[in-house]
Parts: sequence; structure tokens; C-alpha cells
Amino acid sequence: MTALQIRQAFLDFFVSKGHTIVPSAPIVIKNDPTLMFTNAGMNQFKDIFLGEAPAKAPRVADTQRCLRVSGKHNDLEEVGIDTYHHTMFEMLGNWSFGDYFKKEAIAWGWELLTEVYKLPKDRLYITYFEGDEKDGLEKDTETYEFWKALVAEDHILRGNKKDNFWEMGETGPCGPCSEIHFDSRPDSERAEVDGASLVNADHDQVIEVWNIVFMQFNRLKSGALQSLPNKHVDTGMGFERLVRVLQGKTSNYDTDVFQPMIQFIAEKSGKKYNSAAKPGDADWNEAVAMRVLADHIRAISFAIADGQLPASNKAGYVIRRILRRAVRYSYQTLGFKEPFFNQLVPLLAEQFKGVFDNLYSQKDFVQKVVLEEEVSFLRTLQSGISRFEEFVNSVIPFTGGKSIDEIGDKWDEFEKAFKSKIIYGAFAFELQDTFGFPIDLTELMAREKGWTVDMEGFEAALQAQKSRSRAATAIDTGDWVILKYDESVEFTGYDETETIAHVVKYRKVTAKGKEQYQIVLDKTPFYAESGGQVGDKGELVFPDGEIVKVTDTKKENGLIVHFVDKLPEDIDDALTAIVDPALRSQTNSNHSATHLLHAAMKQVLGSHVNQKGSLVNADYLRFDFSHFAKVTDEELAQIEAIVNQKVRQNIPLKEERSVLYAEAIQSGVTALFGEKYGEYVRVITFDDEFSKELCGGTHVKATGQIGFFKIIAESAVAAGVRRIEAITGVAAEVYINEQSNLVNQLKELLKNPKNIPKSVEGLLDENNKLKKEIEKSILEKSSGLKNELAQKAKEIGDVNFIAQKVALPNADAVKNLAYQLKDIVPNLFLVLAADFDGKPSLTVMIAENLVKEKGLHAGNIVKELAKEVKGGGGGQPFFATAGGSDVTGLDAALAKAKSFVG
Ligand code: ATP
Ligand code: MG
Repeated sequence: MTALQIRQAFLDFFVSKGHTIVPSAPIVIKNDPTLMFTNAGMNQFKDIFLGEAPAKAPRVADTQRCLRVSGKHNDLEEVGIDTYHHTMFEMLGNWSFGDYFKKEAIAWGWELLTEVYKLPKDRLYITYFEGDEKDGLEKDTETYEFWKALVAEDHILRGNKKDNFWEMGETGPCGPCSEIHFDSRPDSERAEVDGASLVNADHDQVIEVWNIVFMQFNRLKSGALQSLPNKHVDTGMGFERLVRVLQGKTSNYDTDVFQPMIQFIAEKSGKKYNSAAKPGDADWNEAVAMRVLADHIRAISFAIADGQLPASNKAGYVIRRILRRAVRYSYQTLGFKEPFFNQLVPLLAEQFKGVFDNLYSQKDFVQKVVLEEEVSFLRTLQSGISRFEEFVNSVIPFTGGKSIDEIGDKWDEFEKAFKSKIIYGAFAFELQDTFGFPIDLTELMAREKGWTVDMEGFEAALQAQKSRSRAATAIDTGDWVILKYDESVEFTGYDETETIAHVVKYRKVTAKGKEQYQIVLDKTPFYAESGGQVGDKGELVFPDGEIVKVTDTKKENGLIVHFVDKLPEDIDDALTAIVDPALRSQTNSNHSATHLLHAAMKQVLGSHVNQKGSLVNADYLRFDFSHFAKVTDEELAQIEAIVNQKVRQNIPLKEERSVLYAEAIQSGVTALFGEKYGEYVRVITFDDEFSKELCGGTHVKATGQIGFFKIIAESAVAAGVRRIEAITGVAAEVYINEQSNLVNQLKELLKNPKNIPKSVEGLLDENNKLKKEIEKSILEKSSGLKNELAQKAKEIGDVNFIAQKVALPNADAVKNLAYQLKDIVPNLFLVLAADFDGKPSLTVMIAENLVKEKGLHAGNIVKELAKEVKGGGGGQPFFATAGGSDVTGLDAALAKAKSFVG
């Protein structure tokens, strides 16, 4: 069977058992603070398990794109080294939401594997949960009994909490599970060692294929288990592992899921892929590198297609790090000195056509983003290498651009390490942190030059940074305190901004040492941040007059969570939830304007324009979109004109709250990539012929309320992604008034010229001419000075000593003069003093041969001299400068200079 057939057979099988096939959720998670990326098929059903949302069907099945690169499930370091862990993989799954339970789940799993896929029974092993005293959980004998009816007893094994109690994260849904493992060793090996002894023992030929979880609990922050409202089945089968066992391979990478990619990489690099290479073999590193590339391109492409661009923090940084890991292998091990990794995108998009079409439809965009990242990282790698070379080739201890002052008492340490050819830890860490060098690359390069790395120092620097960032991001979220059960949460904010409500539950959150509370209401007009629109702010007003301020509102799975600074005294009382009306109405204007903008851009720039990010708040709107060129001023003017025309037409809002998704798409609405849509969607229309979008946000009742629309900036945010910022209503009016005031001020300053730009140009021209004349005269003066000073050089021993006060206007001119003198006076020891408008300046220049032979150090000397002018300074051994606060000390400083050559 091909991979394609294997996937289809899975889905068909569960359809035959009464399941509804649902689409994969995006790989990037938006509304769950406990998770960045989808790490299991069940994630999109978390709120159903927790009883926060109803199930759309009692039985569903799908193939879910998953990513395990952060948090509780993180396999990144394994990937490429072993043959069966990936970053991005497909998880085939079937679910029962309070419908069937253990018996059916087990029987159908067995039927699919042994009768449909025809896997040999004697190679399959089953595990079940042995219980756990600490959690108060009993052995899962029920599961054991169901299996015993199907499987030989010596193939059913007990397992501990680590393997047989599945948990989504530190908190959240969990339950005992039963795994199915496959032994693919040759018969001879199987005869010698019993497969049962290799289950869950990290043997790469005895691997877990399917995990059937019986969801029954919610793990709380306190560590306690809370029973779920219902009992559910949640299964996950690694698609790539299934394909491998069905195709009789010993590595996932040998299947038709990965081979086309691997062969492409092998061909382009001119190297052969050896699947059987072992650590230590000559071609081991290359095999790992090829697997890493073939794997990582999947994680990166799907993350980008689902809306997560590489970035310098949070989820975007995780993606950037994976990308860099791949590029390092591509550069270092496979020898691609030019960008190559991005070329894998089209191949991948083709492979997933018809499975996950969101990649194919954006393949040019995704490739462009990867290319741009690759180019910039290769440049970073290059500068890292230059910096490394600078380090090992430096004649004096390398301070990394720091002045002696900054290094202070560490100088001796530097010098000692340097002399024994040890790269100090902080520098190795800088190479990793700033230039993306893994420590083993630094070690390798060091070894080639006869250096070693201070690993202890490196670890210390790494740990120091880790604890810094941990302290900065630590958020402690308490468990919910539940006041009312079974209250379904209703959002009233499309129709009103004031609603009478009750608190359903609350919890305490501590971030950066600050305590806050979060509250869930049974009904609320507060819009929770999503789709780019910020969360509402406002007040909860209690009968006794107490007011609790709501500072933000966010979604968490199915909940609307209000952020408040304190808990009310009478938390059980009915309260009035009031959204700040002014903020909301400005936000409405900006949101509706965003829709008009999006539609106008499609008209002016073309249909390739897709939303890549959006921010809508009361102050302004920001819209990121795919487009490969700068939007010209004319295009911006056209877009603006269309939007303002639509504003003046005062088009009424058409809001349809529940349209079948399929119907909406057919009618031509704009849907966004990476957004998770349910079966029913909300459609926002301003003129059927103009703007129709799937959207959950709040809007104006008619476009006239927007008043006026003004674009204030256009810029680039990433490869192939541009950004427009705009304002509406009063903000736009204020902006225009400010602009016109500015013009008036200019006019006045310029004495009311007819043509302002021309008059400014004239001034600039004149200014440039004057600047050039001044530069010329300084140059003449300093070359006169140069000769004059050269003649004043005194021979003291074998040193040519000059110490003079010079009348030059700035530090650059003095530096220039010093360098010129160095070129014409051999064995130079130069000290220049200058007075820049009352500020003393000292400059020391020492010929390099004197630095080496006499151990002179300009940085140390200038520091001494600076004491005379009540100041300080520093620099390199051959050139250094200092400033101060007392010009009257300049002569004394010059007099002191002599003592260093005496
Ligand atoms: P393992 O112990 O092999 O890492 P797991 O216990 O982490 O697996 P589960 O969390 O139970 O796995 O996930 C369900 C299934 O998903 C597994 O049985 C396996 O087939 C598949 N799977 C898990 N992690 C990966 C991965 N990193 N790459 C590919 N498939 C995976
Ligand atoms: Mg795992």
C-alpha cells in the first residue's frame, strides 16, 4: 500500500464504524496559553473533554498535523538521529465523545491493524496501565480483559504512569492509556531476544505505533485529578510509523513519505543517503543531516502556512530555531554554501496536495519566507565565522569590542585563557546566542585551529541566560474556583455593551510577582481578543456599588476570560458587565475599515493579497498581507480612495451569525489560512459585491460611522509580507489637522514661500556646500598640523615622542591627524590634547612595534592621563581616547605623558 492508500484506509474504516471525518486543526494554536503548537489529535477537542463546548458529533476521526518541538512533548533533539521521531507528523485518530468506550475502541483498533492492514499478530504487543498509588488510580483490569479476548497473554504487558497514563501538558485532560507496539526485527533476532522485553525500551525496531487513551480526568495545577463530566476515547496513531511497518521498512525515512525528499537532497548535494549508517561511520553525519532536512521542512512549511512566521520571540522563535538547525546541517554537513533548504518547499506542497491543501495554495509565499530566513541566517553564520577568526588570530586577548574599563578586573582572566589557547565560555556562548553556532560547531572549529573551549564557562553563561528568561516569563496560573456548574457561557456583545450576569468561576494568576484575577461570567458583552481585534476593557458593577475594572478579555478554548485587578466582595451577586463604549466604538470602526481595506487591496493589487496578520484596537489598525513588492504611493492613494468612497456610501452592515461553512465558501467569502472554522460560521458583508468575510469581530452598523480613513504607514515585516497601518474617525481628523499645522509652521519659518519643497531644497543645497567648505578647511589645517607636529617629534631613546595641544574642532579630526602621523613618523608615541568647546579630550597613539616590544598600552596610559582632566577613557593597546570635565588640566596631562617613555 502507498502512504496515500494507507491514510485513506484508516479514514474509510472509521466511517464504516459510524464516525464523521473532520478536518485537521491548524498546527499553530491561538487560544490556549498552555500550548504553542498542536501536539496531538485531541487538542482541538480539549474544550469538549473539559465540558466547555458541546461535541458536534459523538464519533469523529481525522488525520491531524502535529508538532512536538516544545513543552511537555518535545522530540526535537531526537529528530534525524533516530528513525521514528519527527518534528511534524500526522496523527491518525478516532474519538468518542461520551459515546463508545474501552470495548469498542480496543476491538476496532485490533480489527483495523490485523484484518484491514493485515499486520502479523505475533509482532504486536499491547500495554495497559498498572495503576498509581500517588494519584489514587487502580490497575486498568477492564482494559486487560478486553485485550485478553483478542491477543495472546504474553503479548499484553503492564505499564507505568510514564508510558500508560497520557497527559496533554502540565495541566489539562488526561487518562489511562493502552499502547500498541510493533516488533520489526528479523526472525533470527526475535528468536534470541523476546520482543516483550524491548517494549518501551527505546529500541528503534520495537516501536509504539498507536496509543488509545481513555480520557477521564482533568489534571489541575495543584497536581490533583478531577473527573471529567463524561468518559471519552481519544486515539492517536503515528501515520509515518504505520506506513513504515506496513511497507516493511526499518526506518520511517525509507518509506514513500520521505524517500522523494531524501533522494532530492542526496542528488543536489552529490552525496549518497545511507539509511544503514551507524554513529561513528563516515557517512553517519550526512545521513543525519539529510533526515533533518527532510523532516524540518515539514514543520517549518506547515507552521508558516498556518500563519506562524519565523520571529525573534515565542512560537515564531521556536520555528526560527528549527529552521536554523536545518540550515546548519545543510551548510556544515551537506556543503550547501548557497540557500538550498527553501527548494524543498514545492516538493512538499506537491506531496500534500489533496491532504493539506493550505500548503499548496501558498507554496510560493512559504518558499519565499524560508529563502529569506535562510539568506539572513547564512549571513549570520558567515559573520560568526569572521568573528571567530578574529578571536583566534588576535595578537592580544580578544575583548569582543569591549573597552578595558568594561572588562575591569576580568582582564587577567582573559589574558590567562588567551595565552593557553582557551576560548572563554562567554565568547562561545555569544557565538551560539547571537550567531546561531551550536557548541559542537565552535568546538570543531576551535580544534582545527589548535584551541579548546571552556565548557564550564559556556554552561554557566547558558544557565545564567536560561534563568534570566525563566524569571521574565514565569506565569503561575491557579486552578479555577468553580461557583456554578453547567452554566453555558453566552456572548451578548454583538447586540449590546451592557449585560446583567453572574460569576461562574475565577482563578488567581501571578505573573512577574504581580497578582491578578481572571473571571468567567455566564453572560458577557466583553469581546475576547481574537481575529486581530483586541479584548474589550470596561467594568463589572455590583449592586453595592463596588466596581471591578476589566483590563483585558481573552479566549481560552471555549471560555471568555475577563482579566481583573481584584475580586469583588460579593462575588455571588448579580453584576452589570459594561464594556467601555468609546473604546468599543472606535474599535468597531477600525475593524470594519480593515475589511474595506482588505477588499480594496484585492482590487488594486490583485487577488494574491491574503491577510497574514491583523491588529485592531481603539487607536488604529494594522494589516499584514502577502505581497511581493512595496505598495507604491499611487496604489496607496487608490486604495485609500476606494475605502473612503465606501465610507461615504454609508453601506449598512449585513451580519449573518450562522451560515454553513461550505455554503459561505461557495458564495465567495474571504476565509483566512490557519484559522480554525467550525461547521457554522459568521459572515460579515459590506455590499455583496464588495466585501464578504468570515469574521467573529464587532463592527459598525453602517460604514458612514467610520467617518474618514487614512493610511499612515506602509512597510515590510518579513519576506513577502507587507504591512499597512491606518486610522479612522476622530484619530484621522486629528492626524490631518496636525499635518496641516505642520505645513503652516514651515511656511512661517520659511517666510511664506510660494513653493515650500523648492525653498527647502534650496536651503539643503546651500547647507551642503557650506559643509564641504568647512571640511576642506579642516583638512588643510590638519595636514599643515601634521607636518608641523612631525617636525616637533623628540627622540627619547628609540621612541619618537610628540605631546601637543591642537586646535581642531572635533574627535574625528584629531583621530584623523593621529593616524596620518602614525604613517609618517616611525616608532611614534603620540599624545594629543584638544579643547572641544570647553570639553577636554586626550588621544594616545602608539606604534604597534612599541606595543609589542615595550608592552605599552594606549588604553591604560590614556586612563592615567585622563585623571588630570577629571575624566576617564580607554581603548586598544595602540589607540585610545579619553574625555573629562576640566580643560585646565590638559597641560598637566601632556606633561605627564613623558613619564611613560622616560
Ligand atoms: P514515543 O514514546 O515513541 O515518543 P509517545 O508516547 O510520545 O511516543 P503519544 O503521545 O502516545 O506517543 O502519541 C501517539 C502516537 O503518535 C504514538 O503512538 C506514535 O505513533 C506517534 N508519535 C508520537 N510522537 C511522534 C513523533 N515525534 N514523530 C512521529 N510520530 C510520533
Ligand atoms: Mg514521545
